[in-house]
Amino acid sequence: MSDKNVDNREETEYEDVCYICRRPESKTGKMLHIPQNISICVDCMQRTFDQMDNMSMVPPNFDFGPAFAEIPQAGSKDEDKDSDDKDKKHKGPSIRFLNLADMGGLSDIPQSQRVKKAKHKDKVKPVFDISDIPAPHKIKEELDKYVVGQEQAKKVMSVAVYNHYKRIANPNKDGVEIEKSNMLMIGPTGCGKTYLVRTLAKLLDVPLAVTDATSLTEAGYIGDDIESVVSKLLAAADNDIEKAEHGIIFVDEIDKIAKKKNTNQRDVSGESVQQGMLKLLEGAEVEVPVGASSKNAMVPMVTIDTTNILFICGGAFPEMENVIKERLNKSSSMGFMADLKDKYDKDKNLLQKVTVEDVRNFGMIPEFIGRLPILFALESLTEDMLVRILQEPKNAIIKQYEELLALDGVKLTFTDEALHEIAKKAMEKDVGARALRAVIEEFMLDIMYETPKDDNIGEVVITKEYLTHTGGPQIKMREFLKAESGQ
Ligand code: ADP
Repeated sequence: MSDKNVDNREETEYEDVCYICRRPESKTGKMLHIPQNISICVDCMQRTFDQMDNMSMVPPNFDFGPAFAEIPQAGSKDEDKDSDDKDKKHKGPSIRFLNLADMGGLSDIPQSQRVKKAKHKDKVKPVFDISDIPAPHKIKEELDKYVVGQEQAKKVMSVAVYNHYKRIANPNKDGVEIEKSNMLMIGPTGCGKTYLVRTLAKLLDVPLAVTDATSLTEAGYIGDDIESVVSKLLAAADNDIEKAEHGIIFVDEIDKIAKKKNTNQRDVSGESVQQGMLKLLEGAEVEVPVGASSKNAMVPMVTIDTTNILFICGGAFPEMENVIKERLNKSSSMGFMADLKDKYDKDKNLLQKVTVEDVRNFGMIPEFIGRLPILFALESLTEDMLVRILQEPKNAIIKQYEELLALDGVKLTFTDEALHEIAKKAMEKDVGARALRAVIEEFMLDIMYETPKDDNIGEVVITKEYLTHTGGPQIKMREFLKAESGQ
C-alpha cells in the first residue's frame, strides 16, 4: 500500500516537513524519506539512533563471540580491524542497516501546512519592482489611477514605501541604520484606508495581510494571539518565507486596542495587545505555524523575521476630533490671543491636525506610537469626491456596469444629476464610499433584469427622476440611435 506512495513521490513545490520535529526542509537541510509518507530530518534520525544505542541492554564490553567478530564495523578500515583485535573483545554489530537516503516517501502533512520551496520562476512583471523601487512621484501617479482624493495620504505613503524598500535594498550603509517606515493612518470609515494599502501592495506585488485588531488578544486568552498576523502574511505569500519577510501587514481598527479607561481589570485586548505588538513592529524573529492560525503540536513551525515587514495600522479613531479640539482650545484660550471656544467646531478637516500627543491622549501607549513614526490622517469624503469615485478609478463601479451592459450591446449613461443623487444617498448612510455600491445596486437590478429582455434597446440613460422614483430611465431604441447617427 505504501509502495504506491513511494513510487508516486512527486516533485512538488512544497517543502517536506520533518515527521518528528515538524521543521520544514529549508530549516533542517536534507530530509530522509521513508515509506508510509514519512520524511525525517537528519538531526532527528541521528537522535533516534543515539537513543537506540543508549537503550540497548547489551553492556558495552559484552563479548558477542566469534560469530560477530567477522562482521566489520561500518566505516571501519583495515587498520581499525588490527586495533580491534588487540583488545580481544568483539563488539556487537553496529545497527547501521538502513540506507535511508535511497528511500522515497511523501510526507502525509496536508499541503496547506507546508512551506513552499523558494522558487526562481519567470512570472508576470509587477508594476513596480521592490528591489529597484521607483521615485515617490511615480508611485503616487499609479495610486492616482485607483484612489480619488487623499492627496496628502498618497504622498506620505509613497515616500514611506519608497524609503522602506530602499532601506531593505541597501542595508546598513555607512553604519547608519535607517528606521522602519511603519505607518499609522487615521480616517473615517469607508474613506479608503484599506483600499490604499491594498492598491499599494498590488502595485508592488508584495504579499499583504489585513487583520482586525479587535480580534487580537494577549497570548493565552480567547482570541487570536498577536503573532497570528504574521501567520496570515505567510499564507498570503503562499507559504514563501522570503516573500513574506518583504510583505505588508495592515492592522485595521487599531483604535479598538486603545488603553481602556477606568478599568481595574487586566486589559487583555487593549494595552496588552499594544505591548505584544511592540516587538513585531520593531523587528523580531517569531515562530509561526504554517497553514494554521494557532500553534499546536501537529502544525509545522517556521521562523519569520519581521524586520523588513512594513506595518500599517489604521483606524477611525472616533472622538479623536474632540481630543484635538480640546488640545487646540487649551493652547488658544489664554492671554490676549484667546480665541472663541467654538472656533474649531466647524472645522471639517480637524483630523488633519492630529499629532502624536493626541494619539497618546486617545489611549495608545507611547512605545507603540514610537514604533509607527509616520502619522497621517485621511480626509472624509465629500459629495464631489464620491461622484469622482463612481467614475474615475480604473475599476470604478460605473465603468463595471457600463462594461456589463456593453456585452449585451447596450450603452449605459448617467446624467450628472443622477451621479450627484447617488452620492447624496451614499452620504446619508455615513459609511463613506462603501455605501456607493449598495445604493447603485438597488436600482441597477431592474435595469440589469429588464434590458436583456428586449433586443431593440440600444441605450439606457439613468436620470435623477428614476433614482428619486419620480420617473423612469430614458430608453433609446437601436433604430432611433442608428437614424440619429446617420443624420
Ligand atoms: P476603510 O477606510 O474603512 O478601510 P475601504 O478602504 O475599505 O474603507 O473603502 C471601501 C471601498 O470604498 C473601497 O473598496 C473602495 O472601492 C472605495 N473607496 C473608498 N475610498 C476611496 C477613494 N478615495 N478612491 C476610490 N475608491 C475609494
